[in-house]
Amino acid sequence: AAWRSWRRSPCRCRWRAETTGTRAAESEPVPVTQRHDLVVVGGGPAGYAAALYGAAAGLDVGLVEEHRIGGTCLHVGCIPAKELLETASVLRTVRGASAFGVGTGDAEPTVDLVVSQQRKQGVIDQLAKGLGSLLSGRNVTVYDGTGRLGVDHTVTVQSRSDGGSTLVQADHVILATGSSPRTIGGFEVDGELVVTSDELLSITEVPGRVAVIGGGAIGCEFASMLSDLGSAVTLLEALPEILVGCDADVAKTVRRSFRKRRIDVHTGVSVSGHEPAAGATTVSYGSEADPAAEQVEVDLVVMAVGRWPRGDSAGLVGTRVVVDDRGFIQVDDRLRTGEPGVYAVGDVISTPQLAHVGFAEGMFAVRDLLGESPAPLDPETVPWCIYSHPEVAFAGMTEEAARAAGHEVVVSSHRFAGNGRAMIVGDTEGLVKVVAEVGPDGRAGRILGVHLVGPWVTEQLGQAYLAVNWEATVDDVAAHIQPHPTLSELFGEAVLSLTGRSLHG
Ligand code: NAD
Repeated sequence: AAWRSWRRSPCRCRWRAETTGTRAAESEPVPVTQRHDLVVVGGGPAGYAAALYGAAAGLDVGLVEEHRIGGTCLHVGCIPAKELLETASVLRTVRGASAFGVGTGDAEPTVDLVVSQQRKQGVIDQLAKGLGSLLSGRNVTVYDGTGRLGVDHTVTVQSRSDGGSTLVQADHVILATGSSPRTIGGFEVDGELVVTSDELLSITEVPGRVAVIGGGAIGCEFASMLSDLGSAVTLLEALPEILVGCDADVAKTVRRSFRKRRIDVHTGVSVSGHEPAAGATTVSYGSEADPAAEQVEVDLVVMAVGRWPRGDSAGLVGTRVVVDDRGFIQVDDRLRTGEPGVYAVGDVISTPQLAHVGFAEGMFAVRDLLGESPAPLDPETVPWCIYSHPEVAFAGMTEEAARAAGHEVVVSSHRFAGNGRAMIVGDTEGLVKVVAEVGPDGRAGRILGVHLVGPWVTEQLGQAYLAVNWEATVDDVAAHIQPHPTLSELFGEAVLSLTGRSLHG
């Protein structure tokens, strides 16, 4: 699966040796002017988590950021995307209000994306301000510029404002330089006809017709959002199914919902380019044998084909930090690079590219450098949340992966259609699926994976995530009470039925 690609995929690696090139910053020696216990390069979620957590542990921390503290997540990723998805959700709710006897007159609800963008920016600004206060409250020194790691744990920071250099040295360095949107040949990103998430999140008008290329988390969230806002959406995915890595029943549920909302999903297709004309463009797609067999004319192409790690962006000349041929910095399971005392965390290493995984890795690296020997993080059991409509959330193995790994499994699936709260909120599409290992006594034992699709499942994943990562058994979880009426009691119900007895299922 594409988003499980951190698994031991072979790569050819190269050392960041002196021979890899010269850079202006190295040609003029700069005297060391600042010393810290820890310097973090990159101020996104992984980097700022490392800085805040390190400072909370009493370290003197420097944080280098070349753009904006908060990184992709805060400025062009998670926060703005979920904020605009919420606009889509409010619009959907208002459209369905008459079923509750709540009237909007005869008028169809409208959306003003200028207002929506202002609200989005307000949320971002407030979070950015809070983050700045947290960093200054913990006496983290923030360097505004591009950081390049050289020999002896020295980071040269080239200022954005005046181009001047500062040489910062620390006992430990954490690299957290993140990722940037990937593009493919034939689709030059111009910000007008072809955009990535960076540009899409600033639109102030709803495009009429859109082709979304890539049916992963980003592609499905954008397809869902744009469709709710009123665009005619075509989703083109190269693999046989959307949302690769998700449980097959979950992906099918999302696909069925998309179909009902007239999102035109094509899987197993290649895209071969596009032909702009008169403010629109025609995208060609088809099978690998005939990639230009079909055409769709659209007003906007959204590229959602993954993200490039920025392994090369922090210099590394003269160090033993290794960047692989995909651009990831290589680390061991303690997140240590080849250079002693230098760690790498977040999107720039080959673990799931998720902000909360970055937070966890940032904290892990700090604990490791403090000599606390934390237990290594398991990328296979991290929580996943996709904020499309319907939402998707999961942790642990899919049924297919568990069987492929040799587990004898038993599965329980319960649908929101029978859940009281789901009926009350008027959103009954979706299911909860629990995958458990058959124990030595032949009964359902340890919970290996939990997969949810439906209303507010991103907010329901918590207890399922804990069950999987605490290695809880079906009996452990079934002994606990679920509040009623809630959406989350469906998880309890699915687990209860695996004990061999059930209430409503
Ligand atoms: P992705 O790798 O998850 O999905 C990209 C999809 O594009 C894949 O399914 C791939 O098969 C398809 N693809 C690639 N080239 C193609 C082509 N030429 N034609 C058609 N399809 C093609 O990447 P993403 O959705 O762009 O997200 C990037 C990263 O950010 C991922 O790691 C993702 O998990 C993470 N992310 C997560 C969330 C979330 O969990 N809510 C949200 C946003 C981003």
